[in-house]
Amino acid sequence: MKEVKAPKRPLIYYYCIVLLIILLFNMIVTPMLSQRQLTEVDYGTFMEMIEERDIGIVQVEDTQIIFTDQDETTVYKTSPMEDPTLTQRLYEAGATFDRIIEEPASPLWTLFLTIVLPILIFVGLGQYMSKKLMEQAGGGKGSMAFGMGKSSAKVYVQSTKGIRFSDVAGEDEAKESLWEIVDYLHNPEKYTQAGAAMPKGILLVGPPGTGKTMLAKAVAGEANVPFFSISGSEFVEMFVGMGASKVRDLFRQAKEKAPCIVFIDEIDAIGQKRSSGSVSGGNDEREQTLNQLLTEMDGFEENTGVIILAATNRPEALDPALTRPGRFDRRVPVELPDLAGREAILKVHAKKIKAADDVDFHTIARMAAGASGEELANMIKEAALRAGRSGSTVVNQSDLEESIEVVIAGYQKKNAVLSDQEKKAVSYHEIGHALVAALQDHSAPVQKITIIPRTSGALGYTMQVDTGDKYLLTKEEIENKIATYTGGRAAEEVAFGQITTGASNDIEQATKLARAMIARYGMSEDFDMVAMETVQNQYLGGDASLACSPQTQKEIDQKVVELVKAQHQKARKLLEDNRDKLDELARFLYEKETITGEEFMHILTGGEQK
Ligand code: ADP
Repeated sequence: MKEVKAPKRPLIYYYCIVLLIILLFNMIVTPMLSQRQLTEVDYGTFMEMIEERDIGIVQVEDTQIIFTDQDETTVYKTSPMEDPTLTQRLYEAGATFDRIIEEPASPLWTLFLTIVLPILIFVGLGQYMSKKLMEQAGGGKGSMAFGMGKSSAKVYVQSTKGIRFSDVAGEDEAKESLWEIVDYLHNPEKYTQAGAAMPKGILLVGPPGTGKTMLAKAVAGEANVPFFSISGSEFVEMFVGMGASKVRDLFRQAKEKAPCIVFIDEIDAIGQKRSSGSVSGGNDEREQTLNQLLTEMDGFEENTGVIILAATNRPEALDPALTRPGRFDRRVPVELPDLAGREAILKVHAKKIKAADDVDFHTIARMAAGASGEELANMIKEAALRAGRSGSTVVNQSDLEESIEVVIAGYQKKNAVLSDQEKKAVSYHEIGHALVAALQDHSAPVQKITIIPRTSGALGYTMQVDTGDKYLLTKEEIENKIATYTGGRAAEEVAFGQITTGASNDIEQATKLARAMIARYGMSEDFDMVAMETVQNQYLGGDASLACSPQTQKEIDQKVVELVKAQHQKARKLLEDNRDKLDELARFLYEKETITGEEFMHILTGGEQK
């Protein structure tokens, strides 16, 4: 799509021009009026000059005599005196009688030209501009100078390069819901005849980077209508009333261009729940802006052809007034892509690079579980860069796999030097995870184990990859996951009898899972199906907030400790029982630094080391 910028000249531009005119006026016109400076002399000097015949032109007036010297280089002025023979003497001295300067402008006239007129122009222009601005902003209060009340929405008009639904991979449900809008924009009669009314607003909700903006653009692209895009945070202005004014301006523009799509990204920036108390201050501006948005949405008729799409990753924070019927009453979830979705997104973006024929996108998609569309797009870019760096003309499977690891764990830290003992400890730690995972049922297969340090701080990691998407986890599976997290530390204990700091991240993850089991998933007998925590923000990290008494909280903490402890013991037992395999695999990893899941399984199942 092509962005079209409205020709916008801020008011300051016109003020500068006026200022320039005034300056020129004062510099050129005013001196012209008082042209030719007069040198005032006394009557005696005038007499002497007549005596010396040093007189050129003379202009005799009632109140002054203006004259030049013979060369006419200087103009003099003197006051007239009673002198009847003056004319005669001047004549004899060879003077010519003529006008030297025009009638000097009257002081009033000068005042008018140099001061009053510029002020009038200045004020008039200011009035005119601010009136225009008010009109543009919808005539409301608060419209101010310098284009502040104007919406800064970017306007795109459809061009042949517009984004289409086919560019958005996966997200089939979202596309299906939005297709109706496209169809309506193509054939409004079809819907209006049946008495159907299109929703005025549609809310796209989902985690960041899942293609919400892309989908909104695709609706405009498919329907071939203009697309206005603005971010919620752009409405928040320095002055109270400016945001509201911007909203008015946006809707005015949209109505002019109807049918069209208006896309408000991060609507939570203005659409957050309004405070119930009368504590005003910082939130006034946001509330006014939100109120204006609600008023505008209520104000325009259904089926005017203006469809508002808004995106947010914090739907729970939105003011309920926004989601009421007639406003954003339709909600389209745009979730993280599933396995098939990830593969499709990878393939769409791979079109932009030159991938080797044998690249297996299915495997890559499996490895990138939990990645958003944006992250997948970045992985492809990263892989292409990697291929470029290594001098390869095509992007290989290994480039893609490495780029996933970069996203998960950061870049390889080439110059990190681990001591022999540390390297050994990391080998045991990682094999501990892998072995505990492999020795339990229902664990995701190990894909890769490495002890090459990463910039994220990880000294090594074990990558487990599920064969397919998992939507439900059993209690046993979660317990196994916790055991796998504790496996690293357990291996250190079994092998060295001492522990290191290497398990900090594992501890965090294990605790999180154990707490969720008890407080959210109802997986403990004591608390049964009672929610002790509620998830605050499902799309942004899923922070949970406690919803129980301090007493219960204490009990939860205890249960969490018991649960993790039990799994830790289980992991230790598994490793003790398989001590020979632990040693063998750790030695192998120590030597090779990176081993594949197949190599790992080969040794585990009793095969020879390669
Ligand atoms: P959001 O608005 O949800 O934060 P965007 O629409 O801005 O996400 O997506 C960011 C980028 O991620 C897009 O420019 C695109 O390259 C990529 N992307 C995200 N989802 C998809 C998808 N489903 N198909 C193709 N590319 C995607």
